[in-house]
Amino acid sequence: MTDAELETRFHQVRETFFPRSRKARGYTVRRVVAPPDSPSDVRGTCGDGEITVDSDAVEYGGDLLDALLIHELAHIASLWHGQRWRDAMRQALSRAREIQREGLAEVLLWELVSHPPR
Ligand SMILES: [Zn+2]
Repeated sequence: MTDAELETRFHQVRETFFPRSRKARGYTVRRVVAPPDSPSDVRGTCGDGEITVDSDAVEYGGDLLDALLIHELAHIASLWHGQRWRDAMRQALSRAREIQREGLAEVLLWELVSHPPR
């Protein structure tokens, strides 16, 4: 996937799952190669106006990449995996079911299960 394709994908995901978030529209996406010593469970970040995604996840594409983009976009609402992040994820989850993206819905549900609130 080229950087331009990733950008297009990011825009599609943002418009489909966060159509009402004006804040999200100010965000860009960038792929990063994880340093060898980084924790293996970190596949993306949500920083100041920028979301980064692991280059392997970009290559994998599909529902996994979309779920990762959604996970990071949901962090615009909250830095942590607390209630606001979970609400944003649940909204995206019901949207995925609505548009019959069952595979994506499953990954989103797994994201919720594997990031319990603290
Ligand atoms: Zn997270």
